[in-house]
Amino acid sequence: MKKIAVIGAGTMGNGIAHVFAQNGFSVSLIDISQNQLNKALDIITKNLDRQLAKNSIAAEVKEMALQNIALHTSMAAGVQDASLIIEAATELTELKLDLFRQLDEIVSEESILATNTSSISITKIAAATSRPQQVIGMHFMNPVPIMKLVEVINGYATAQEVTDTIVSLSKQLGKVPCVVNDYPGFISNRILMPMINEAIYCVYERVAGVEEIDTIMKLGMAHPMGPLQLADFIGLDVCLSILNVLHEGFGNPKYAPCPLLVNMVMSKKLGVKSGEGFYTYTPGSKDLKVSTRFLP
Ligand code: NAD
Repeated sequence: MKKIAVIGAGTMGNGIAHVFAQNGFSVSLIDISQNQLNKALDIITKNLDRQLAKNSIAAEVKEMALQNIALHTSMAAGVQDASLIIEAATELTELKLDLFRQLDEIVSEESILATNTSSISITKIAAATSRPQQVIGMHFMNPVPIMKLVEVINGYATAQEVTDTIVSLSKQLGKVPCVVNDYPGFISNRILMPMINEAIYCVYERVAGVEEIDTIMKLGMAHPMGPLQLADFIGLDVCLSILNVLHEGFGNPKYAPCPLLVNMVMSKKLGVKSGEGFYTYTPGSKDLKVSTRFLP
């Protein structure tokens, strides 16, 4: 496998393109927005510079990585000759189903179609194609160049050879793959999101303050970030939509999102990306201040 294509040049797409390019793969990075592609290349360059400054890569590796990346606004042109296509576009079911229908028509039969979705069923996405055995989840974590895990998700029909290929490819990128089966939330979000939801319930029921909850989980459980700060970082809208997937997928009330989370999302308090969630965020400042709404 020499050439891969990444669809979507947002937070995840630029990181995925970065790690493949740095490891010698030729990468087509595809997005509907040229502006987004330019931004992605800027971010990749800055992140490679940071690695260079820390001596974790050599100058030649940075040059090779940048040379390995081609930008495309046309999907048909970008996926040409790619043996693996990784879809990392916006988390909308209809959008992904449509992309996979199109890919199925334009990509060679042997190519593997992977998705980086955090919550949409791999089996459902695979069913939009005529080759469900070639479709798999390749769930990278944010930030991709730093986080070691790749959650490899077998759809109901995924072929063993396809899983084996993705496992060995992930190892080639210096990542640690873990194979799981396709059920709502896979493993990562099935375990993480109920913890975040429970932390939000603790704020809602005034069991403790935001800072206390996060400090208890950081110092008591050795989590690098408390669950409320993590929820702000992921995006409260994303957390809500994953909890809805778990709730609907299992039909179990234990996954019902906390009403406080629902209210915050309705009022567009989405965490880091909107400037306010459980904490407030000022661009350029690393200060973490609890939102005044949650102060005693
Ligand atoms: P993002 O919003 O940062 O980027 C999505 C990109 O997709 C945008 O640049 C958009 O222009 C592009 N896009 C939309 N429609 C397209 C199309 N038809 N063709 C090509 N490009 C298109 O999103 P993100 O955070 O990078 O998430 C991407 C995927 O990765 C989602 O499925 C998400 O669930 C998953 N994911 C996100 C994270 C995270 O922490 N952000 C972690 C793991 C997985």
